[in-house]
Amino acid sequence: MEFRYLGNSGLKISEITYGNWLTHGSQVENDVATQCVRTALDEGISSFDTADVYANTKAESVLGEALKGERRESLEIFTKVFWPTGPGGKNDTGLSRKHIMESINGSLKRLQTDYVDLYQAHRFDTETPLEETMQAFADIVRQGKALYIGVSEWTADQIRAGHALATDLGVQLISSQPQYSMLWRVIEKEVVPTCKELGISQIVWSPIAQGVLSGKYQPGQAPPEGSRATDEKGGADMIKRFMNDDILARVQALRPVAEELDLTMAQLAIAWVLQNDNVAAALVGASRPEQVSENVKAAGVKIPDELMTKIDDVLGDVAETDAGKTAEQTPRTRVA
Ligand code: NDP
Repeated sequence: MEFRYLGNSGLKISEITYGNWLTHGSQVENDVATQCVRTALDEGISSFDTADVYANTKAESVLGEALKGERRESLEIFTKVFWPTGPGGKNDTGLSRKHIMESINGSLKRLQTDYVDLYQAHRFDTETPLEETMQAFADIVRQGKALYIGVSEWTADQIRAGHALATDLGVQLISSQPQYSMLWRVIEKEVVPTCKELGISQIVWSPIAQGVLSGKYQPGQAPPEGSRATDEKGGADMIKRFMNDDILARVQALRPVAEELDLTMAQLAIAWVLQNDNVAAALVGASRPEQVSENVKAAGVKIPDELMTKIDDVLGDVAETDAGKTAEQTPRTRVA
C-alpha cells in the first residue's frame, strides 16, 4: 500500500480507502462485510469511509463491529453528516448545529470509537447559514470528536467559503469528496484547481464507476447475477446512469490498455484516478473480499502519458466533464 498526505495536513491516509456505501447493512450480509474489512486490513488499507446515512445508520454499525479490536491509532476513520437519518424528523437532516452535534454522537457510538479522523459535510446545506455549520464543525474538533473536517460534492465557490470560515475558526478543512472516474471528470476544471490553491485533497468516490469500469457489464447483455446492477435495494438505481450500450462498448475498448499494463480493468480504473496528484485516495467499494485483493494492486501504479491519452481517445465524449454537474449533486432545499 502507498500512503498520501490528506491536503495541507500531517495526516497520511491509504491511497486506496475502503468505503461501505450500498454494501454494508444492505446488499451484502454482515459476515461478508466483515471479511471485506479483514481483507482490506490484511492488504494494507488503513483508511475507511462511511456515512451516517448509509443503510440508514446500519453501515456505520457494521464497520464499527468489523474494526473492533484493531489498534485505533493505526486506522483513519471517516464519516459524514447531511442526509436524513433515523425516523426522519424535521431536524434529523442537514447541517444545522443541532443535527451535526446529534449526528456525530450517534456515529461515534455506532463506530465504537471516541473520535473520527475526518468528519465530512456530505452535501452543502442551502438552508443553514454556512457560519453556523462551520462553527459546529469547529466545536466538534475542539471537543476531540473529529480531528479534521472535509466536505463532499461542494462546488469550488462553496469550498472556498467553507475553507475561509474554517481558517478563521482555527480548524483544518482538508478534504473534498467528489465522484471521479474516467467516466465522470467534472471536478477537473474548477474543484481541483481551487482545492490545490487551498491545500485541500480529493478523496474520490466510485472510481470504478460502481463496477462499470471493471468491464463486467457487456453491451447488449443482462448484468451478471449478484452485481450492483441487479441489486434492487438501491444499487441498480444508482448505477443506471452508466448502463447504456455506448458507454459499455467504449469501456470494453479499454481492455487492451489494461492488458498492456498487465492490470485488470478495475485496477486500471483505480490507478487512473490516482494519477491526479490532487487525489489523496480512491474510495473503493467491494461486495466480496476477492475484489478488495484485486483492487489494492492499483496502489503505486504509474500509467504512461501515451496510455492516458489513449484512454481519453477511447472514451471520447461519454466522459462527463461539465463542471456545472457538481452543483446538481446538492438538493436545492433540504431533504426531509
Ligand atoms: P466503486 O466504483 O469502487 O464500485 C464498487 C463496486 O464495484 C463494488 O461494490 C462491486 O459491486 C464492484 N466492484 C468492485 N471491485 C470490482 C472488481 N475488481 N471487479 C468487478 N466488480 C468490482 O465505488 P462505490 O460506488 O462503491 O463507492 C465507493 C465509496 O465511495 C463508497 O463506499 C463510499 O464510501 C463513497 N461514496 C461517497 C459518496 C458521496 O456522496 N460522498 C457517494 C457514493 C460513494 P458488485 O460486486 O455489487 O457489482
